[in-house]
Amino acid sequence: MNSRISDIWGKRTPFSRVDEWPARVDEYLDPTVDVAAVEWRQSACVLCSNGCALDIGVHEGRIVGVRGREIDRVNRGRLGPKGLYGWQANNAEDRLKRPLVREGGELVETDWDTALTRLVDKLRSVLEKVGHPAIGFYTTGQLFLEDYYTLAVLARAGIGTNHLDGNTRLCTATSSFALKETFGSDGQPGSFRDIDLCDTLFHVGINIAETQTVSWMRMLDRLHGPDRPRLIVVDPRETAAAKEADIHLAIKNGTNVALLNALLHELIANDRVDREWIDAHTVGFDALSLIVEKYPPERSAEICAVDPGEIREAARVLGASEALLSFVLQGVYQSNQATAAACLVNNVNLLRGMIGKPGAGVLQMNGQPTAQNTRETGCNGDLPGFRNWQNDAQVADLARVWKVEPLDIPHWGPPTHAMQIFRLAEQGSIQFLWVIGTNPAVSMPELHRMRSILGQDSLFLVVSDAFLTETAQFADVVLPAALWGEKTGTFTNADRTVHLSEQAVEPPGEAKPDMEIFLSVADKLGLKDRDGAPLIRWRTPEEAFEAWKECSKGRPCDYTGITYDKLRGGSGIQWPCNEDAPGGTERLYNDGVFLTGSDVTEDYGHELTSGAAFTEAEHRALHAAGRAILKAAEYIPPRELPDEDYPLSLTTGRTVYHFHTRTKTGRSPQLQEAEPDVWVELAAKDAEALGVTEGDLVRVESPRGALEGPARVRGMHVGIVFIPFHYGYWDEPNGSEPNGRPRAANELTMTIWDPVSKQPIFKSAKVRVMRL
Ligand code: SF4
Repeated sequence: MNSRISDIWGKRTPFSRVDEWPARVDEYLDPTVDVAAVEWRQSACVLCSNGCALDIGVHEGRIVGVRGREIDRVNRGRLGPKGLYGWQANNAEDRLKRPLVREGGELVETDWDTALTRLVDKLRSVLEKVGHPAIGFYTTGQLFLEDYYTLAVLARAGIGTNHLDGNTRLCTATSSFALKETFGSDGQPGSFRDIDLCDTLFHVGINIAETQTVSWMRMLDRLHGPDRPRLIVVDPRETAAAKEADIHLAIKNGTNVALLNALLHELIANDRVDREWIDAHTVGFDALSLIVEKYPPERSAEICAVDPGEIREAARVLGASEALLSFVLQGVYQSNQATAAACLVNNVNLLRGMIGKPGAGVLQMNGQPTAQNTRETGCNGDLPGFRNWQNDAQVADLARVWKVEPLDIPHWGPPTHAMQIFRLAEQGSIQFLWVIGTNPAVSMPELHRMRSILGQDSLFLVVSDAFLTETAQFADVVLPAALWGEKTGTFTNADRTVHLSEQAVEPPGEAKPDMEIFLSVADKLGLKDRDGAPLIRWRTPEEAFEAWKECSKGRPCDYTGITYDKLRGGSGIQWPCNEDAPGGTERLYNDGVFLTGSDVTEDYGHELTSGAAFTEAEHRALHAAGRAILKAAEYIPPRELPDEDYPLSLTTGRTVYHFHTRTKTGRSPQLQEAEPDVWVELAAKDAEALGVTEGDLVRVESPRGALEGPARVRGMHVGIVFIPFHYGYWDEPNGSEPNGRPRAANELTMTIWDPVSKQPIFKSAKVRVMRL
């Protein structure tokens, strides 16, 4: 096994709070290539939200490797296993090189004009016969900003549909909502630089050692340095971070809110809060106090099945911290009461007055590499530039930028979320669905249902992708897309750092950048603005970026101070970057003023347990006016709990070696060899009760489906089963149908979502396990 496959985080470079994180340049090149002959093009990694800067090595028109960029603030040259080896997907033999259309039930190759004409004819006919409510778009967190912005204008102003969402709904919708609920706007308050400066790290539902390996390297270097920060990890599994932790709260899945309420209870009861700061910079303290008063550690310990003493100790560490940095990810976002739990983490920092200060903040992390841009540009079910669809002045401002009438921009209701888009397709309301760079046939919950939706005759399905994914196999038209390295553009990581990625090689065959595909469709539709000029006026990525700057001007995600040239050669730059902050902005809210005024907020907020949306009047009644909102929630048990027939609880997640449905990482030999197939992780006590030992083939069944795989016996909360969700069927002999051995984790999961963020819940479903 290659060393960076087995040595995931590489050599330690310990440092203290007064030092800079030392550089360490990681590189992997095709060993058959002469290093001296390699040319380098600037880019960043697109295999997780860390956005590590790298250069792409090119030889004879092919990508042959990558090298971390030492100068960059995000990674100081480091790369993790996915970054080092994932690029090989670009060179895979089975890349889509020509468009495909369905003829006589089969997908056959064709030319671009035929494929696009078929797409546009169908789009026009559905628009004429039914109208824009019958058109849907389901996009991704893996395109570039320029692609997304073009898509947002095409779908929202051009076609006028409200049904545009990203697979970010599965990944970071809760991050976005938690930031809006508490701080008034999306946008990460903290910065990766705060890892260098914190004295306490608080990880809630984030397996960062596997999901964002380079940030974990940075933390490890602090944890192994001279002034080690304290580390508290909340996770049902004994992850690599849990093994390094001072306190590991291995709670039962689905109980985050109960635990966080107890931690908040302890902070308040022991006066470990900054009352002066709270009074000046927040609203909602009294209501929060009334609720958390009901969660003494004993009560929550019983719900979470942990020791109350551990909760008290964790609260003591949080309460003693002078620089608290909190991290949140899918263990919260895809779990029971997702938005409520994420907001309660915000509260922990707010009660301590630890937002916007060096070493202190919250990182409501993203999962996908460019999820931030999906959200900023309005491809996620929001309006571009974090504009509030309920605020007429903000909609009018967007209409001004796009040179259309405000009524041309759908804002009569909340933008349709992905779970609802598929529901509408299931019911026949959506008749034309364009899936872009994502694979719902593996990544969505309850796969037998997803397959029946994607395969129904009444739905015209278009898929743009680089490969014939499980989803593309259902399509009526398949468009071959260029990948990273084959097009130019920018993208923004989880701590608001914008990177430029230069085109390094030509796309294979006739594959095209997504932005070009969207422009071709806009041209064929003849979309115009209110003056009769083309609605989308740009042709190149740089022109698209300049147009986006105009849209982002004066907004929280202001890009006006960034240019392609400014991004060339140096480090990535954190937005907002404008005349006031020409070098970018390290952390938000350092003045303690938040975007919660009713005229500026991106969202009027929600009641966290029911999901009921507040009106503008209700928001005004809060009198937040620049103060952060301390939101509270009672604990509610997960909807599906283990019972006699299904005595265990499923949680799904990731491995360090793969990304999403392995469309790319499954085509990297080292990554695929490292974890080639699904497995079923059990706690030792459960394995013993089932008579299962390491490697035994087991069958897992839920009320919705089944899966088979070898067992792994690991440190984990008793009663929980963990299964990675990366494995579908594209590299199985039976193709897209699980006729052979079912192995996709989402065969088991259920169609249920968080009431606020509408993010599907993948981390609690009743199952039973049997040895085969
Ligand atoms: S941490 Fe993420 S962005 Fe960085 S190299 Fe690994 S996969 Fe790529």
